[in-house]
Amino acid sequence: MLERPAPGAGSEAWIDYVYLRDNPRGAYEEYWHHTSGCRRWLVVSRDTATHEISGSRDAALGTVIEVAR
Ligand SMILES: [Zn+2]
Repeated sequence: MLERPAPGAGSEAWIDYVYLRDNPRGAYEEYWHHTSGCRRWLVVSRDTATHEISGSRDAALGTVIEVAR
């Protein structure tokens, strides 16, 4: 989870918070928004090297979403 800096934190801390992210290789969970469909947020488990998706769930409800293969 990303830790939000205190309001008085210096610009260096805010630049890190807003712009800098890890770029892991391998299994990763990320948020996807189904903009053109149901407009819900999903948590998708994806391998960043192969783009293989191993699972997904509704971000708010936590329910697992079946993926057709
Ligand atoms: Zn949807």
